[in-house]
Amino acid sequence: MVDVRSVHKSYGPLQVLKGVDLTVRAGEVTVVLGPSGSGKSTLLRTINHLEKVDSGSVSVDGSLVGYRRSGNKLHELREREILKQRTGIGFVFQNFHLFPHLTVLANITEAPVSALRRPKKDAEAAARALLDRVGLADKADAYPKQLSGGQQQRVAIARALALEPKLLLFDEPTSALDPELVGEVLDVIKDLAHQGTTMVVVTHEIGFAREVADTVVFMDGGRIVEQGPPGQVLDHPRHARTTSFLSKVL
Ligand code: ATP
Ligand code: MG
Repeated sequence: MVDVRSVHKSYGPLQVLKGVDLTVRAGEVTVVLGPSGSGKSTLLRTINHLEKVDSGSVSVDGSLVGYRRSGNKLHELREREILKQRTGIGFVFQNFHLFPHLTVLANITEAPVSALRRPKKDAEAAARALLDRVGLADKADAYPKQLSGGQQQRVAIARALALEPKLLLFDEPTSALDPELVGEVLDVIKDLAHQGTTMVVVTHEIGFAREVADTVVFMDGGRIVEQGPPGQVLDHPRHARTTSFLSKVL
């Protein structure tokens, strides 16, 4: 489903990704761990072309992300094509990024109506079903600022799901939340995992990784240091850097 091949990315002189290879199979959950600045968000953002790679390639569901191949040359897709491609790849941010001036329902229906040209009535019916799924059926007419952080994040997840993405990317979806609100968001993500949603989740929630991940990836210094099933990476890490990181977050 996701194929990241030898991806390099720098910001000016700062090399942030130094050759990252990652494969995510359909229906699997990959959890990405690693210290601050190790390149986790940058990696996630290259997967939906929020960041361009300097070299290497990313493909999702068999399509090259952000580029079209003609002969042996690559041409960047036009903005409109990039946006279309991105509708198939949901992204959930740490700080929710809801539209503050729109109701919960309108937040969820905006993209299906404008990007996918869904009839408004159908989009609203689908949005209500999604709100029910994330436990917020009674909040359709509320505005984001009237909701708790955990509720806002669940709306953001419903909004991502409304485009029926092939893949969902989460960048520290619970790290802006008060501790008592973390569980309700993780429960929604766990449900998605159990329903076979393909996901890449950057998080420091080790318990979640242990329970839900098919693969745990540990990044440090712009590289994947090790990856494998949670029982291996979390309980029997092969690298001293992984051991040292885990001793700090556990
Ligand atoms: P955190 O756990 O703090 O979120 P991270 O692993 O997600 O860290 P990234 O956000 O990918 O790390 O950042 C990796 C490095 O790239 C950091 O040193 C960061 O300062 C730098 N960086 C990220 N985005 C930019 C940017 N747009 N311009 C310049 N430098 C950037
Ligand atoms: Mg980050």
